[in-house]
Amino acid sequence: MAIPFVDLQAQQAQVVDEILPEIESVLRQGNFILGDPVSQFEAEFAEYIGSDYAVGLDSGLSALKLALAALGIGPGDEVIVPVNTFIATAAAVSFLGARPVFVEMDEDTNNIDVTRIEAAINERTKAIMPVHLYGSPVDMDPVMAVANRYNLYVVEDAAQAHGAMYKGKRVGSIGHAGAFSFYPAKNLGAAGDAGALVTNDPDVAERVKGMRNVGQVERYIHSLPPYNHRMDTLHAVVLTAKLKRLDGWNASRDHLAGLYIENLPQSIIAPQRIDYGTQVWHLFVVRAERRDDLRAALQTEGIGTGIHYPVPLHLQPYYADLGYQRGDFPVAEMVADEIVSLPMYAEMAESDVRLVCERLSEFVLTANPT
Ligand SMILES: *Cc1c(COP(=O)(O)O)cnc(C)c1O
Repeated sequence: MAIPFVDLQAQQAQVVDEILPEIESVLRQGNFILGDPVSQFEAEFAEYIGSDYAVGLDSGLSALKLALAALGIGPGDEVIVPVNTFIATAAAVSFLGARPVFVEMDEDTNNIDVTRIEAAINERTKAIMPVHLYGSPVDMDPVMAVANRYNLYVVEDAAQAHGAMYKGKRVGSIGHAGAFSFYPAKNLGAAGDAGALVTNDPDVAERVKGMRNVGQVERYIHSLPPYNHRMDTLHAVVLTAKLKRLDGWNASRDHLAGLYIENLPQSIIAPQRIDYGTQVWHLFVVRAERRDDLRAALQTEGIGTGIHYPVPLHLQPYYADLGYQRGDFPVAEMVADEIVSLPMYAEMAESDVRLVCERLSEFVLTANPT
């Protein structure tokens, strides 16, 4: 690929030398699971996010699931989820035997339409899960207001938004719990699958710590649901080294996003900057007519793209039995056919952003000759 969609090697290269001695030490000690580097990372990540507690886990999906489990969500309960998210958000609800209730997206922010949350609430509703999609913070004040009015929990899915700010606070620290994924391609990525839950609630933190480790409160006494969602020590070593660089990487993404916004041809709809916080541009998602032709044209130029996500959750085969139909979420359905994620990673060259924009302008011109 002349310009890959994402370049993980460019990021790894910056930390490999620094972490090799620590990796060797873990390999020699054999403290592979929940070793000291895990608690060190938990402390640093909690401080960075501005939450009292962080709990290291094996994935972002586990963080979402254990957050809901710790808040007591289970069979018979309903949880509000945006219809345009990665399936993990809703899967966490389903795995606990509760029902995800989908809410339409907002076309301008790509996030849940906060004005439509209230209409989805009934006596079974227990929680709202706002997703800071693409690294763009949800407008949290209206979400917290409606949650307070109906006595609901708020679990933030911050899996794409490490470091993003809402009115001076890091996302993940605003609701009752926040879930992060450290999947390698996220803004903060491990050397494999990992995740974390953050919270200010000591009970939630305690319960999640017990549940991640087969429900133990003391050794071989299992009083909580006995899951296995522990974080591996090697991931904590990698994450601690990368956390120091996260703000720099996010600043670089922001600069590249600005360049894209300046140079994109007019007929391509660029994402908007929010005025109530800062975005971290996990993905740079535009909307275009003839999206599939556009992707094919970029592909022949060696430019990688993605679609996040092509099928809204209410149309996913796994959720067929929830009873939703095509037409239920017209905004999400329309946007799903138009979105394309352009290359975006901190190490991307400015000249490559300009080149992608030039190729897009050429495509637009050939598609609409004057
Ligand atoms: C990546 C992601 C997750 C799940 O994270 P995993 O670590 O892959 O389990 C959840 N929600 C969103 C929005 C994500 O992008």
